[in-house]
Amino acid sequence: MTDNVSLQFISGQRCVGSSDEELTIVDPSTGHTLATGRSASRADVEAAVTSARTAFPGWSRTTPAQRAELLLRWADGVRARSDEFVALESRNGGKAIKLAQGFDIPGVIDNISFFGSITRNLEGKASGEYSGDHTSSIRREPIGVVGSIAPWNYPLQMAAWKILPAIAAGNTIVLKPSELTPLTTLLFAETAVAAGIPPGVINVVTGRGDPVGQALVEHSDVAMVSFTGSTRVGRQVAAAAAGGVKRVHLELGGKAPFVVFDDADIEAAARGAMAGALINGGQDCTAATRAYVQRPRYDEFVSRVTELMRGVRVGPTDDPATDMGSLISLAQRDNVAAMVERARASGAKVLCGGVVPEHAPEGSAYYDPTLIVDATQDSEIVQNEIFGPVLVCLPFDADDDGLALANDTPYGLAASAWTTNVFRAQRATRELAAGCVWVNDHIPIISEMPHGGYKASGFGKDMSTYSFDEYTNIKHVMSDITGAAHKQWHDLIFTT
Ligand code: NDP
Repeated sequence: MTDNVSLQFISGQRCVGSSDEELTIVDPSTGHTLATGRSASRADVEAAVTSARTAFPGWSRTTPAQRAELLLRWADGVRARSDEFVALESRNGGKAIKLAQGFDIPGVIDNISFFGSITRNLEGKASGEYSGDHTSSIRREPIGVVGSIAPWNYPLQMAAWKILPAIAAGNTIVLKPSELTPLTTLLFAETAVAAGIPPGVINVVTGRGDPVGQALVEHSDVAMVSFTGSTRVGRQVAAAAAGGVKRVHLELGGKAPFVVFDDADIEAAARGAMAGALINGGQDCTAATRAYVQRPRYDEFVSRVTELMRGVRVGPTDDPATDMGSLISLAQRDNVAAMVERARASGAKVLCGGVVPEHAPEGSAYYDPTLIVDATQDSEIVQNEIFGPVLVCLPFDADDDGLALANDTPYGLAASAWTTNVFRAQRATRELAAGCVWVNDHIPIISEMPHGGYKASGFGKDMSTYSFDEYTNIKHVMSDITGAAHKQWHDLIFTT
């Protein structure tokens, strides 16, 4: 494939980073190099922020109708090159091609179309005479240059979730993708300019979190920082942004519980757990990672999930019959394997998986679907994010116990409840402390609805009209309607 590519996109053009560091972009399912290129330097971050700052006055004054037209044209441009995006996302992410084809790329196109539609509906409260003597109105204004940082798990979807609400609201952006997976994000920026979005509105700087991400977060012309990634790095980003009193939006890690009550349809729950745990090789912040199953149905559930997991086809990412590709890197594969080994050593049992598949090519990052039982609630494998194809099952007795165990981690991004009883379902949706709660399903997302966490999973919302609350300032405008020089309230200060 491509060799030596320009990994930066500044002022509407691909350009070569000016750092000495060479980045190697790999297909983790083969270990082969897809591209090499220079990392961004601090000077490149400076140039990208300047480009975004220069584009801001013009872009922020485009009308919603103009922005809508450009975004809808961009959606068409991405749709027209969809096969190219699918192939690149699958290779760079080690993803099964059917996932890139059926989820990643259609999701991105839908996201652009959605924001293309709702940018014309950016609204504030209606005007009114709340004081009696003034007309108050609300202006929703773009914030300025947004500095965004994205992870590697869904490179293009995460880039879209950051870019779309920001620019639909009239901001300009500098995005740093993970240096492992920048290729589709760069192509995405190119298609934006080809669709007529002015140069400078979207800029991409590729490089490591430290120094490139750090330089972006700390830049004095970056008015807002929007970060998706781990809770550990999210804390560092928030601390760095605090120096400039910047607005921060944090989409962080997850450890989603999957609560199965004894009246649940066990076949539906087992299939849901398998798919929810293994989507994208489990490298999904909302992946089902802890299944709590009411004791009378526990054995039945565990044995069906084991059977389903054993049938999952792990294989070459370009084979349409492959269910699950590789993990993102050897380092990530080793992290997952080490965590499973520590669970085993502390007394948990691995019912299936827990190994690298026998057929895995040398240098590839494959790991088999893994089911673990007999772990304790306070163990690492139950409490910490794993970001791999690993599901832990634990039994519970009373409904309250199941819900309490589900809430007993620092995270709160997503959760699901499985039951055929409407009262149990309603109660679970109230009790589960997470930004998204599914009933009898786990994973589906839609552009119209918000995505974001509770607790250590962060704050702020991606997607939906709620995301405009992150990417706009709300200004109160209060205009006197009396024309009086002497206003009654002046008497509180001085009487003449
Ligand atoms: P990381 O937190 O390691 O990295 C995320 C991004 O931050 C990367 O681009 C990284 O660069 C960058 N970064 C690292 N250090 C700094 C720094 N000091 N300053 C600025 N930027 C920095 O996450 P991963 O890439 O490993 O992604 C997996 C994580 O993302 C999981 O925890 C997952 O739950 C979370 N996630 C959350 C989602 C949500 O919606 N809540 C959605 C998807 C993922 P570099 O590549 O060099 O490390």
